[in-house]
Amino acid sequence: MTTPARVVLATHNAHKVEEFQAIVGRARPDLEVVGYDGPEPVEDGVTFAANALIKARAAAAHTGLPALADDSGICVDVLGGAPGVFSAYWAGHRKDARANLDLLLDQLSDIADPHRAAQFVSTIALVRADGAEDVVAGVWPGRLALAASGAGGFGYDPVFIPDGQPADAERSVGEWSAEEKNRASHRARAFQELLPLLRGL
Ligand code: IMP
Repeated sequence: MTTPARVVLATHNAHKVEEFQAIVGRARPDLEVVGYDGPEPVEDGVTFAANALIKARAAAAHTGLPALADDSGICVDVLGGAPGVFSAYWAGHRKDARANLDLLLDQLSDIADPHRAAQFVSTIALVRADGAEDVVAGVWPGRLALAASGAGGFGYDPVFIPDGQPADAERSVGEWSAEEKNRASHRARAFQELLPLLRGL
């Protein structure tokens, strides 16, 4: 019997491993996604791509397996792309999601609707066992709501209004179902770019 091919995902989060396994299975049903329990590198990159590569390189070096890692956040045009890589810690290192989005709303309180453009960005790095590296990204364009709404999702979902909705029925991602979000999100878009690379692993 042959051992199934494996790819390590640089996360301790079991839900993320499941999510990646479902996606990876679409391109490579024989490929098993395993979690990473080695040392965590310092994420001191200043771009999503740099941080995803730092995590994937550490997991590849520690396990000898090809490694995947993702890094994501929200980028607001009028703030020059911030919070960006600081999305998780925008209101400080206690990593409080509600405080993060309240601060962002407060910072934009004088900014009118036409100038509130924002994007969710997801970047995924793939580092192969021979050291070859690839980075893919998915961007979900939209704008920042004037106030939070909806109880679904996580992070900045209640304040992000994706483009492309009927003008009289716009909803924040906090009001979307998980299925709707998973079809349209920045992560879904990045996964789409990742699939051909996985076929070549
Ligand atoms: P991570 O790199 O995937 O851990 O994401 C960093 C931060 O970006 C999260 O803590 C959230 O604040 C924000 N973020 C990333 N993706 C999403 C999303 O799909 N919805 C809401 N917030 C997100």
